[in-house]
Amino acid sequence: MKKNFAIIGLGRFGSSVCQTLIESGQEVLVIDKDEARVNDYMDIATHAVVADAQDDEALKSIGIRNFDHVIVAIGEDIQASILVTLMVKELGVPVVTAKALNEYHARVLQKVGADHIVHPERDMGIKLGRALSSNHLLDYLDLDDGYRLAEIDMTDPRYVNKTLDELNFRSTFNLNVISIRRGKEMIISPLADQVILPNDQLLIIGETRFVTEFDEKMN
Ligand code: ADP
Repeated sequence: MKKNFAIIGLGRFGSSVCQTLIESGQEVLVIDKDEARVNDYMDIATHAVVADAQDDEALKSIGIRNFDHVIVAIGEDIQASILVTLMVKELGVPVVTAKALNEYHARVLQKVGADHIVHPERDMGIKLGRALSSNHLLDYLDLDDGYRLAEIDMTDPRYVNKTLDELNFRSTFNLNVISIRRGKEMIISPLADQVILPNDQLLIIGETRFVTEFDEKMN
């Protein structure tokens, strides 16, 4: 379903969110107080407006409350980011995602009503650190409530050339295999008699601690 997005702030973060949303066919209004940045997005975004989002009247005249989802992508100016998040929530926007620079900023954003808070630099740093310190973890996504989805490269000789059943995968590791990527082939919901071949990439899901244990067990 098509949603209406408004992005406030066209720095590196806001502009890449905008580009991705447009590529997926969504409607996006971008707002920035910097005219040159807005001009760059005139032909990319559905609408582009020069405005200071700290100005309540400007937000009202743009009709910000009619948007399903507003992304507050103001970077360095923490005060502006907090104030704008507060105002768009007060104007009645159902979902607001805000970018935080640090933990303190995130806590305040939460208090003023942000529905989702992202920490792009911190999260990418953690992700890269985890991927670099593991030989097997290709990528992962943390879900709510301590669950993790992870893509694991299967190279450990103890775990390859065996079926999921032989490994007793679910009860040994407390994890479920969602799919197996084998070169260009994708095996969705593999059955118990599925053999794992060397360099298969398993997409697994389970409690974060079990995903970590599984990753650490592998040679
Ligand atoms: P990033 O770290 O994502 O690159 P930046 O701090 O470089 O973020 O960019 C933030 C953008 O938000 C800038 O283009 C800036 O002009 C814009 N911005 C900051 N404050 C406001 C505001 N009050 N109203 C509208 N746009 C703003």
